[in-house]
Amino acid sequence: MLIVMKSSATAREIDAVVENIEFIGLRAHPLAGATRTAIGITGNTGVIDGRRFESLAGVAEVIRVTKPYKLITLDLRPEKTIVRLGDATIGGAELAIIAGPCAIESSQQAFAVAEAVKQSGARFFRGGVWKPRTSPYTFQGLGKKAWGIMAEIREAFGLKIVTEAVDESHVDLIEQHGDIIQIGARSMQNFSLLKRAGRSKLPVLLKRGMAATLEEWLLAAEYIMAEGNYDVILCERGVRTFAQHTRNTLDLASVPAIRRISHLPVIIDPSHGTGSAYMVTPLARAAVAVGADGLMVEVHNQPEVALSDGAQALTPLEYAELIRQVRAIRALVAPR
Ligand code: PEP
Ligand code: MN
Repeated sequence: MLIVMKSSATAREIDAVVENIEFIGLRAHPLAGATRTAIGITGNTGVIDGRRFESLAGVAEVIRVTKPYKLITLDLRPEKTIVRLGDATIGGAELAIIAGPCAIESSQQAFAVAEAVKQSGARFFRGGVWKPRTSPYTFQGLGKKAWGIMAEIREAFGLKIVTEAVDESHVDLIEQHGDIIQIGARSMQNFSLLKRAGRSKLPVLLKRGMAATLEEWLLAAEYIMAEGNYDVILCERGVRTFAQHTRNTLDLASVPAIRRISHLPVIIDPSHGTGSAYMVTPLARAAVAVGADGLMVEVHNQPEVALSDGAQALTPLEYAELIRQVRAIRALVAPR
């Protein structure tokens, strides 16, 4: 159920509806929009009788939700969510760029890449501190040591730090020194991790699972929002198909498909989406042309010796050229 408040509704009236919902043991999710606030209701297992809300002051409409999701939908918030971190935004007018190495390997590597990222005007630095690897015998990330390097980069460059939480304890650490919690493709349906991220105050970047349908992916976002964290950024990184010419098949159609359903920002990761450096820039251009809110790009100062994902890493020079190209495209396609 969803309660749409009148545009003239006062904060007091909104609070009264929230209290009413909580009084019957349910959870209220008030989301303020540009013209009105809507209140999503979760926690019910059966149908709620909406008539009890209809006559409350300030209520414009009570809508029964028939879709499997309640909070990610445009019904709840008709305009796009803009995730704000200080003066940086994701989902707003600026094209959000999250760039950095696959994994933090050394202080020297991380600083060299961060320098290039900063120079490009990007606001977000990515880098795996803990790496979820397919094989237990490959590089698993430097862990605590990498986290120390991340803290130094944040301090030195003023970049916002994005890193993946592979388990729930990592969320605690990211909350101390990071800015965005990344949930990786392999963890998209790790429901306890989703719930933990949902209880965080930090935005969550949710990657699409490698075999996830759009609905499964959006329901994973719904898990986070149902816990009260509404700052979710969706990241398309490709799915498994029979194609052999790419690591994954980058589903760019997910951008307009999500736009039809959800207010959440969507970014594209052409690095994991293709697996080869030579394809990253062309697919990044396409991602921006299709209307993505941003990009996540892997960059390495020496891709040939990278400890993970070297084949898809751009050099700082290639990355700078990518940024030049996508900014030109964004200027043409950005919503005015
Ligand atoms: C990553 O971003 O480094 C990563 C592991 O990506 P994914 O979860 O999309 O495979
Ligand atoms: Mn990677």
